[in-house]
Amino acid sequence: MGSAKRMMMKQYDAHEIWIEICVRARVVKRCHTHEETYWATGADEREAYILGSILVRDGDALVAGFDRQTVLDGIKSAIADAGSDGCAHCAKHADD
Ligand SMILES: [Zn+2]
Repeated sequence: MGSAKRMMMKQYDAHEIWIEICVRARVVKRCHTHEETYWATGADEREAYILGSILVRDGDALVAGFDRQTVLDGIKSAIADAGSDGCAHCAKHADD
């Protein structure tokens, strides 16, 4: 595997980590059916930053190899990518 591809995979994995932190902080919710879909719960997003800081401070395996600023920036981008009103895929089938 070339290093460029490895970096892309690392980035992809990292994005999953940021979402996971937001989910644990209950700042976003992830669709059980469509895992790529997640949306903001309306909870205070500072909870996600606080949790991210705690994970870095405690040396949690989830954020191993990342420094605090990278984690906080990652959480920020994950929140920015979040939808706002549930899963659009599921909503499409809600009337079935
Ligand atoms: Zn869904």
